[in-house]
Amino acid sequence: MSNCQNCGVENLAALVNCTACGTTMPPADLPDDISQIWRIRFDLIEKAGGPGLPMRQQLSFGEHFRMTWNIWAFLFGPFYFLVKGMWRKALVYWLLGFVPLMLIDLASPDNELGPLKFGVNIAAAAWCMLRSNTDYYRKLVLKDNGWW
Ligand SMILES: [Zn+2]
Repeated sequence: MSNCQNCGVENLAALVNCTACGTTMPPADLPDDISQIWRIRFDLIEKAGGPGLPMRQQLSFGEHFRMTWNIWAFLFGPFYFLVKGMWRKALVYWLLGFVPLMLIDLASPDNELGPLKFGVNIAAAAWCMLRSNTDYYRKLVLKDNGWW
């Protein structure tokens, strides 16, 4: 949360404009180079009650989509987290995906379980995408970057 310099109304930390008077808000304590896309995502995460998203039902379908959609996290999975400086989560998510895939390989040397492997890959990619924006919010806004 941060207060508008013009009218004093309290606004969500990631908002670009004051909701009451429209004045451009200072960039809170977010990095200056953070893009508009991330500001919108962070606003929506705050509207949903924070990174745990306890009030996510209040978001419309479109807002929910904009809050969670992250094609790069889907495509690159743990490597996306690594690039974003979230290396602890990158490591944990990589293990969570890699271990089941390795077990499937061991159980099916002739790739009989190929479809299952494909399913695990998709699930891991979806998991990384669903986690990416809230995890980045935790890192940038809450200064919380991982579990240890
Ligand atoms: Zn204002």
